[in-house]
Order: sequence, then structure tokens, then C-alpha cells
Amino acid sequence: MSLSPQGQTLLQLLVDKIRDGRFTRVNGRAVGDTEWWSGEIRAAIVYDWSIFVNDTPPPTLPELIEFTRAVVEGRVALLESTIRTRCEGLRCRARQYYAGSDGRLQCEVCGWTKPDNRFSGHIVELHHIRPLADLPSDGSTLTLAEAIASLAPLCPNCHRCAHSRRGDRNTFTIEELKTMVPSRLPDSGIYGD
Ligand SMILES: [Zn+2]
Ligand SMILES: [Zn+2]
Repeated sequence: MSLSPQGQTLLQLLVDKIRDGRFTRVNGRAVGDTEWWSGEIRAAIVYDWSIFVNDTPPPTLPELIEFTRAVVEGRVALLESTIRTRCEGLRCRARQYYAGSDGRLQCEVCGWTKPDNRFSGHIVELHHIRPLADLPSDGSTLTLAEAIASLAPLCPNCHRCAHSRRGDRNTFTIEELKTMVPSRLPDSGIYGD
């Protein structure tokens, strides 16, 4: 591995700063251990830091002014919007279809189930594999079997992930999510010590 002239300058700068005596021991290493430090700094310079870089542009001044203004939350407003209606009967049948022997739904991606019946309601949600927005405006007519197969039970976490594909508005498929989200099933090792 070779360092660019810029990297070498940075390395020299850092090593000099450390030799200044500002630190005596860092991470259990003596400051005099320049070989180890050089290795650490070299690794840091070539490390792909881009994963830590937030790709949303910084706010502009008008936006910052807007952010720091007092906001009113919770004011009642009349909302007018177009929504996609869902068939409540289908959701009820689908919940029965996907429920396990204990009556609980299990996330198809990570295996999460509601851990305690003192939590009310259906926490595992039914996700439309084909987004509702893609259907014709007058809806689509399916057999009950087709309609149930078009839904997948997902925990709120995986459901949010499914709809969070960066760059376009398509959802992730269940198969894609399974390769991206760790399983929470007891034998997966996630819960083990
Ligand atoms: Zn899940
Ligand atoms: Zn969904």
C-alpha cells in the first residue's frame, strides 16, 4: 500500500502531534509506539469512510431559520386527500390464515412475534407485496387465495425497511429483506449469549 503525498503529509502531521506529548497512552498503546500508530493511521486513511457520510445536503440558511422557529404540533386541521381503500374482510381472513397455532402473526422476514398478549392489537402488519399505489384507480379484483398470497406479515421494523429502498419508490422483496435483516428466531443466535 502506498500513501498519496496528501496522505503522507497528514500522517506526518498526526505523528508529530502525537510526539508533541499531548497524549501519553491511547487505546492502551504508548504514544512512542509509532509503528503501531502509523499502521492505525494508514488504515484510517484508506478506510472507506463514505458509509459514515450523510448524503443529504446540509440545510440552507433559510431552512435553518425555518427549523429554529417555534412550531405548533397537534393543531387540528382538516385534511383532504385521496386514499386507497383496503378490504377489511381480506385483512381479517389473511390474519387468520397467517396466524400460528398460538394465534399470533410472525414476521416473514425476521421471525418476530408479539412477545406478550398484554400488548393490544396486531403489531405484526400485513404488507402488500405489490404496492397498492400500482393498482388501477378502481382497484383490482382478486380471488381470496390470490389476495391472501399478495400479503406478507411483517413486523413494524421489517415493514419500515421494506418501504425504505434508497433511490426509488419500489419496495424491497421479502427475499431481499431476508438477506438484509438478521433473523430474530431463537436458533439464529441473535438472542443467545
Ligand atoms: Zn421483522
Ligand atoms: Zn407495506
